Amino acid sequence: MEKDVIIIGGGPAGLTAAIYCSRAMLSTLVLEEQSVGGQMVFTTDVENYPGFPEGIMGPELGSLMEKQAKRFGTEISYESIKNIDTTNKKVVTDRNEYICKVLILATGASPMKLGLEKENELTGKGISYCATCDGAFFRGQDVAVVGGGNTAIEEAIFLTNFAKTVYIIHRRDKFRAEKYLQEKALRNEKIKPIWNKIVTKLHGDEFLTGITIRDVLTTEEQVLDISGLFIFVGYKPRTDLLKGIVEVDENGYILANEFRQTSVNWIFAAGDCVKKPYKQIATAVGDGCTAAISSIAYLEMAQK
Ligand code: NAP
Repeated sequence: MEKDVIIIGGGPAGLTAAIYCSRAMLSTLVLEEQSVGGQMVFTTDVENYPGFPEGIMGPELGSLMEKQAKRFGTEISYESIKNIDTTNKKVVTDRNEYICKVLILATGASPMKLGLEKENELTGKGISYCATCDGAFFRGQDVAVVGGGNTAIEEAIFLTNFAKTVYIIHRRDKFRAEKYLQEKALRNEKIKPIWNKIVTKLHGDEFLTGITIRDVLTTEEQVLDISGLFIFVGYKPRTDLLKGIVEVDENGYILANEFRQTSVNWIFAAGDCVKKPYKQIATAVGDGCTAAISSIAYLEMAQK
């Protein structure tokens, strides 16, 4: 199958690129592995995306972007990428082979783990990386959030809708999150910050029953009885498949210039998979727009 533009990833960057490319009458295919919306699917209240003065739920914002892209003819297909053949401009998935003129990488990022023993076994059994998905299972229970960034604080606030107590375990004595969020969280009676602590052990066999936390200053350890642990310690780019195809930095982030063009002239990149200072839905949307306009210009030049 031949397409003008293939976009890998259906988060805000990919869907914005799709809106622009399909509206420019280019045949545009978005390949998505899981669900359209990217990390927005796992985000509760989005309060700082312009145009929604009362805020909007992440999944809803994702479906609105999907609807808008489809309105202009974007095709969305759920397939897993197996290989990108740069010589033939071919994208091979678990189900199809496509030839394209331009490729836009918008693969996003996935949550980082703590790397503790039993973390994988207990995922879905008390350990979670998504409050939107799992928060309701912890009604009336004591849970903890790890991390001090925007995600940790926003999701801790969301968890107070269900849990009895939400501990926020942070490795320093100051959150990284925006001041507005910090203040909102600290005003909430259900939220109890635990400063200068790291999680060193997970307890429980079938389900999580508690954790050991260590004070980073005194090294003293204590056990915290909780049934849910929500881990929000940052994200890593989903670029494993792209190494050797386009240039990436030491952490796997794609190197793309201000036109969002990568080291390969017909491959563009947008969103959280790109090396850049700020990772927001709004910046992902901006990136998707830039990558799309650059792609359209590249195709026009190629036709001359
Ligand atoms: P982040 O800003 O990188 O914060 C990660 C947090 O986890 C930091 O507080 C960090 O501690 C802590 N941490 C990292 N590794 C750890 C470990 N091994 N053990 C314990 N704690 C650890 O990640 P994020 O909150 O997911 O945000 C990612 C990006 O998305 C950011 O650019 C953020 O601004 C953006 N975002 C924006 C919004 C919004 O605007 N509403 C919402 C969500 C995310 P230290 O602080 O000590 O480094």
